[in-house]
Amino acid sequence: MTLPQILVPAAVAAAAATAFTAYAGLSFTSQIFGPTLVAPPQPNQLALTFDDGPNPTATPQLLEVLARHNVRATFFLIGDYVLSQPELTREIHAAGHIIGNHTMHHPWLARHSETTIREELLGCNRALEDTLGAPVKLFRPPHGARRPAVLRIARELGLATVQWNVMVGDWLPRSAENLLARLERGIAANQRHGRGSNVVLHDGSQHGLGAPRMPSVDAVAMLLKRLPPDTAFVTPPQWR
Ligand SMILES: [Zn+2]
Repeated sequence: MTLPQILVPAAVAAAAATAFTAYAGLSFTSQIFGPTLVAPPQPNQLALTFDDGPNPTATPQLLEVLARHNVRATFFLIGDYVLSQPELTREIHAAGHIIGNHTMHHPWLARHSETTIREELLGCNRALEDTLGAPVKLFRPPHGARRPAVLRIARELGLATVQWNVMVGDWLPRSAENLLARLERGIAANQRHGRGSNVVLHDGSQHGLGAPRMPSVDAVAMLLKRLPPDTAFVTPPQWR
């Protein structure tokens, strides 16, 4: 009877020690609260993140909006699109935004083998690093779909996994005004709970280049005009 009671805590302690060592070896995952980055801690902090680009019909306009307000955001790019849009990828980087890995082809990773997961992450890393000449540190799983193998492989590749805590369904045909209202509601709800917001929007689409994403861009433009002056824009590495 006592044996399992002794062994289980020992096993847990050993696993915790291994996990701690693994985290400690990777600067972007040196956190004790969990293996993913969700949201910044302070209610006035806001991270804007954009998935599924680069997209020639929305990303340039989005870059203009962000530049007008001097806001730095994070872009999780699809490797396939990076290869087809290298100049636009470099523009995002040159504007000072953070670029992360959103896999090569946007699959549901939880449904794939470890070999495929690794290929998807490595392929996107390679596309980004060859295009930008800079290392990639962040990863967002397509659809937010995770399983332990996905997080482990990301960590092994030196990638910190980033989730979100505000999502407004901007892949649906919604107006900019509707998206703005949803964004403001989400941010306000987080503030009421005493935390900051990590907003996910889409300047591109997993279904192909050229997706009509101007409602998302226009919603960001309106949001940036309305936010209180004490809003602190952050990117995931800043709150790890
Ligand atoms: Zn996506």
